[in-house]
Amino acid sequence: MNLLDLVQAPEARVPRGPAPVPGIRELPDPEVVILPLEYPGQILFSPAVAVGDTVARHEVIGRSERGNCVHASIGGTVREIRTIWSARSHHVPAVVIERGDVPELTSAELMAREDLVPDRATRLEMLRAGGAISPWTTPGRDHREGDVAEYPEMTHIVIKGLNEEPLLHNFEVLLREHADTLADGIKRLHEFQPKARIHLTVRRGLVGWARERFGDLVEVVGLSTAYRHRLERLVVPRICGVDVPHNAAFRARGVAVLSTEYALAAIAALDGRPFTSKTLTVTGVGVDEPVVVRTRIGARVGDVLEALGVTVPTHGRVSIGGSMMGLALADLETPIDKFSHGIFLQEPADLPVERNLVCINCGRCTRACPVRLQVHLLGRSVEFDQLDTALAMQPEACLECGLCAFVCPSHRPLVQLVRIAKRYGRSEA
Ligand code: SF4
Ligand code: SF4
Repeated sequence: MNLLDLVQAPEARVPRGPAPVPGIRELPDPEVVILPLEYPGQILFSPAVAVGDTVARHEVIGRSERGNCVHASIGGTVREIRTIWSARSHHVPAVVIERGDVPELTSAELMAREDLVPDRATRLEMLRAGGAISPWTTPGRDHREGDVAEYPEMTHIVIKGLNEEPLLHNFEVLLREHADTLADGIKRLHEFQPKARIHLTVRRGLVGWARERFGDLVEVVGLSTAYRHRLERLVVPRICGVDVPHNAAFRARGVAVLSTEYALAAIAALDGRPFTSKTLTVTGVGVDEPVVVRTRIGARVGDVLEALGVTVPTHGRVSIGGSMMGLALADLETPIDKFSHGIFLQEPADLPVERNLVCINCGRCTRACPVRLQVHLLGRSVEFDQLDTALAMQPEACLECGLCAFVCPSHRPLVQLVRIAKRYGRSEA
């Protein structure tokens, strides 16, 4: 083995992921759901229900300023409205519903209540009313909702038919299970945005299959199974020829990016069926084979694992997301939200004994970084409160891919340190 092999070895260990598991396992309705009144990391909703109310599944329980909605994912009684720690570690308000024998609200009833008719003029309202917030919502900053009029005309729509994370398969499983519905939905997207070019990303091995089914409607793009070659912020500019050098919204440059799940949720919303169920991949220690499950939004992580008969390893770690970008959970009460694409379990032997050791200047983090940030210097600048120095290194370019932390022999929390710099930069902007 030569020196270069040694240097590159840790990154080469990033899992590529086996072929996706077939099928989706439906989980029974949980006894309790906790529904964050927040579109993850984006906008906040005001409660539309009070403690003690009886709610039907699909009933609106929260509404934002512009009419985006969050819905009850089970029927029952509102037990509490309180703050929780969300899957993204945000402290947000949430509605807690205890399951009861309440008939489900039909599409017709929901549309009548929201005063919607399925014509062209009301499509955006229907997406909002269906909880499938459109890609025109301003992402990330100050929980502010944008308006369609604020954005340039859409020139590209990218539908993600595979997850970025190598161990997660739910986007691909949905693509294969709902190919006909998706094809129909893409035709409707064309009507909605006739000038936009639509692209569908799939794993290379699936290109032939995807061209057969979607070739007349979209441009199919095959992606490598290597993690760094499917990172959204690198892939989308390559496909569309639109440069997005930092974490500004793609939409601000005329590009909408949505997963197969979001596309299906948007199609369902146009038919009056709200976004109340979520697919996710459960994988890691204690799970014999990775499994894609469908559960109610708001189901607690602990309930999902219990329904699968999975035991959490003592002193192990449970993350929402995958092996690279997942966030470790403080407790299993955390609810599944619209962006919880996976649950990943690790046992103590997978975790470093000591963390956040001194940087030894090995340079692995910087070599691994796909956007060539000087991660070690950035991390140290933040650590020693030299935020202006950190900002000069352009932390806003960070993709939060986790490759730097993955290869760091000192197990430093590099992504978190870079995030601090990004947040500081925003507040100064
Ligand atoms: S998470 Fe680390 S490796 Fe990934 S882009 Fe950010 S600094 Fe670079
Ligand atoms: S932060 Fe970690 S990977 Fe980067 S130079 Fe320091 S020890 Fe090496």
